[in-house]
Amino acid sequence: MSIIVQKFGGTSVADSDRILAAARKAVRAQQNGKQVVMVVSAMGKNTDHLIELASQVNADPPAREMDMLLSTGEQVSVALMAMAIDSMGHKAVSLTGGQIGIRTDSSHTKARIQSISTERLQRLLEDGNIVIAAGFQGIDEDYNITTLGRGGSDTTAVALAAVLQAEACEIYTDVDGVYTTDPRILPEARLVHQVSYDEMLELASLGAGVMHSRSIEFAKKFSVPIHVRNSMTDSTGSIIWQEPESENAAVSGAALTRDEARITLTSLPEQAQVVEEIFDAVSNRKVTVDMIVQNIATDGSVDLSFTVPEAEMSVTCEAIQPILKTYNARIRDIDGQVSKISIVGAGMANQVGVAQQMFSALANDDIPIQLITTSEIKLSVLVPRSKSLDALRLVHSCFGLEQTPQCLTQTDPKRDENVDAVQVVDRLREVGIEGLVIDEIQVDVSQASITINRVPNRAEAIAKLFEQLADGGVFIDMIVEGYEDQSLSDISFTIPKTQLEKAISISNEYREQFSCGEINIIDSIAKLSVSGIGLRSHTGVAVKTFHALAAADIPLVMINTSEIRVNVVVPGEHAEKAKLQIEKEFEENQI
Ligand code: ADP
Ligand code: ASP
Ligand code: MG
Repeated sequence: MSIIVQKFGGTSVADSDRILAAARKAVRAQQNGKQVVMVVSAMGKNTDHLIELASQVNADPPAREMDMLLSTGEQVSVALMAMAIDSMGHKAVSLTGGQIGIRTDSSHTKARIQSISTERLQRLLEDGNIVIAAGFQGIDEDYNITTLGRGGSDTTAVALAAVLQAEACEIYTDVDGVYTTDPRILPEARLVHQVSYDEMLELASLGAGVMHSRSIEFAKKFSVPIHVRNSMTDSTGSIIWQEPESENAAVSGAALTRDEARITLTSLPEQAQVVEEIFDAVSNRKVTVDMIVQNIATDGSVDLSFTVPEAEMSVTCEAIQPILKTYNARIRDIDGQVSKISIVGAGMANQVGVAQQMFSALANDDIPIQLITTSEIKLSVLVPRSKSLDALRLVHSCFGLEQTPQCLTQTDPKRDENVDAVQVVDRLREVGIEGLVIDEIQVDVSQASITINRVPNRAEAIAKLFEQLADGGVFIDMIVEGYEDQSLSDISFTIPKTQLEKAISISNEYREQFSCGEINIIDSIAKLSVSGIGLRSHTGVAVKTFHALAAADIPLVMINTSEIRVNVVVPGEHAEKAKLQIEKEFEENQI
């Protein structure tokens, strides 16, 4: 008999009526011949209230006790849900994370799942029960209660669907499904019928709070189809699956990460080791670094800009001070009032002019761009927070995201028969079920890079550059914009070697036109891409990559990170060595 996992978020179990409504959905699924596992969150804002309560007795409560407290929210919900189902004359059993056997590591308040035993669940299902699992929690080796981080019930649900080899995982929430951007921020956002795992991974980590990003990692690893639906209506919702909604659309969603801070360092020596030391120090404080932009050195020294959540700006600055001191480098500029706007789309990789379209839209409203990073399926810009909502609206409309794309992909979201779940689970037992998995390390030596220094960082000037390159038919792959000062920035981009001449001549003309600084050309670069699952939530991945290069004294030319890929560019002559080094570094994470 096929198993279905249904997860109900906080709003969907906020009061007794909603609990009864959720119970009816589960009973209906069982009557339709499924074995049903429910995963429920704490009622309404209960988790927030518990956090508030804790802060009233201790300004800095011990993490272990925090988990003990927060896990009670879900325990209330599972018990009530089991009672609701019982009242309808059906069999139900509620279980805490520990009772199910969800084993995690011991990082309280952000624990990772290591293993899940399925025997008890299977037995209860075979006996005709609807099993109700408490979301967001587990136990460590010493039976301490742990929690998976805010929003973690999604991860419990998808993880259970994965190990039980469920037919699908339904996520019931308070909106109709996944939208092109948060519908509570932009009412014109459109409901997306289907979104790919990679797109959703990027969107979730960029602020689309509808799904916990680690849950999408599970779904991708085990090829579990996710169906996001409204718990209050019978609307069809959205499917998260291997395929994107449309093959033609370059962009399928936009996201706003509001409370970001930018830190710009200057006078760093051009060695991968320095970058490694800096991010090592930051990740030791458990701060997740987001955009990383390193400008190509002009005089042997390097500028490095990166973003962290605003709340972690001071701890980050404190953490890196000793390293800056050692290398005689310094913090040049900090801005705690910035936000990141990103566009995501599986179709972005093979279309020309996407970047230019976004920059032009921002230029029309005079919104300055402080940093730019790209990946194959994502483009992010950093803008002043006061303009962030306008920027999101402009970008959303410039790609016509409110309109349904013409070509909808029709796929049947069934689990992929080609994925041997048993084999994957076995391998994951070794690396830890939520461990880092690297599936590919690629090297591309077909490109060259150009850096134009001191470009006016008005969106209009930046848009012009990419417009002129697009008009010349030049295909741009990576773009990074580093912060120089309030009015200037350095822009680096990569192009196919075959188009280098053309790109140089366009850049020279552009330089005259906008009175930029000098142009640096590297006619042969190697772009190394580390792709896999868990790259950003495992903060150490970028550090490991830098470490691998530093150990062989290979200089870094460009860096770009995303949820699914870490890209680094090194001078072309180091291609092979760099690849070997990185492969060695990630040996144990390969699947
Ligand atoms: P739950 O309690 O059900 O887990 P969440 O509050 O975690 O619900 O997630 C649902 C919320 O996510 C929505 O109310 C919406 O405001 C927000 N959201 C952010 N980005 C998106 C998006 N792209 N699509 C849909 N909802 C989004
Ligand atoms: N109750 C937890 C939270 O509010 C987990 C969840 O809802 O997913 O973060
Ligand atoms: Mg949620």
